[in-house]
Amino acid sequence: MKGTMRAAVAHRLGIPLSIEHLPIPSPGPGEVLVKIRASGVCHTDLHAVQGDWPIQPSLPFIPGHEGAGVVTEVGAGVKHLRSGDPVGIAWLHDACGHCEYCISGWETLCERQRNSGYSVNGTFSDYAIADAAYVARLPDNCDFIALAPILCAGVTSYKGIRETEARPGEWIAISGIGGLGHLAIQYAKTMGLHVAAIDISESKLALARSLGAEIVVNANDASALEDIRRATGGGAQGVLVTAVSPSAFTQALGMVRRKGTISLVGLPPGEFATPIFDVVLKRITLRGSIVGNRQDLAEAVAMAAYGKVRAQVEPFPLSQVNAVLDRLRVGGIEGRAVLDMSLVA
Ligand code: NAD
Ligand code: ZN
Ligand code: ZN
Repeated sequence: MKGTMRAAVAHRLGIPLSIEHLPIPSPGPGEVLVKIRASGVCHTDLHAVQGDWPIQPSLPFIPGHEGAGVVTEVGAGVKHLRSGDPVGIAWLHDACGHCEYCISGWETLCERQRNSGYSVNGTFSDYAIADAAYVARLPDNCDFIALAPILCAGVTSYKGIRETEARPGEWIAISGIGGLGHLAIQYAKTMGLHVAAIDISESKLALARSLGAEIVVNANDASALEDIRRATGGGAQGVLVTAVSPSAFTQALGMVRRKGTISLVGLPPGEFATPIFDVVLKRITLRGSIVGNRQDLAEAVAMAAYGKVRAQVEPFPLSQVNAVLDRLRVGGIEGRAVLDMSLVA
């Protein structure tokens, strides 16, 4: 018995997480035990605890899938990791490794994947179990709090931008400037794109401007779509939708240029209206995008480690996780809230 750890546990959907002391788990074959130093709080964690999606999480569970920490124990057969290695635990906890998706670099589409903080326990805890083959490698002496948001918000934004196929010098419109969107602006700038930012909150738009967005537009303005089309000379070649609102998905169709691609990343429950005539005659591509594979994750981390992208974080102790989720629900977090496991309150 290794002792106990603090963990935030969902026993039922739609009620606050309970902070408990649980036994520290032991890694099985192919697994590692990670001492979590910091865990970002993604809007997906809120969808999970609210039970927003058609597939429900397995109860009880510990949410969290932006866990940055250090390996403290390796399970049988793990040869490439050792105690002391800094690693990240992301949404893709593990996958089958041999299906058509896994063998072609699309392990994020594996039908047998398991997801951290959803179908297996996640990282809102002092320790978490990871599959050694799926952890992100982090640089030595890294800033765990700054890198935690890269493990989901960062990689998802980076991949979602690439999925628009916008080229350097072209425009990307980023709808939703929250945890994902504020990183997306920075990835897009680093990738040579012009950036238009759209949100419903003036403070998020001010953040977007400070991060280098050339155009900022409030989605609630009557002229929002016209403003974007005019400033981009006919619409953005790429549109990335991270907003937690179905109406933002319909709006995206009014921002995209002919022949452009809309990368759909936000996951509000619901549906959105799609004007068939516009999509067909303008040859618009609508493309879903889900996190990123392990190579995408390595690249997203590398760009942050290089200093090209930096999450704006607000740290909280684990004990305040329910207050963080309440603020996230009303759009009250600027950048990313991160649970700093060294804070005791
Ligand atoms: P967040 O709460 O930090 O940010 C959401 C932002 O959307 C906020 O700034 C909010 O003001 C803005 N917004 C709300 N309504 C809007 C509208 N009508 N137009 C423009 N902006 C609007 O959330 P987050 O952590 O960045 O996550 C965003 C979404 O992405 C969530 O639904 C989450 O589940 C999803 N997500 C998807 C993936 C994926 O792989 N596809 C990965 C991570 C998160
Ligand atoms: Zn996430
Ligand atoms: Zn598979």
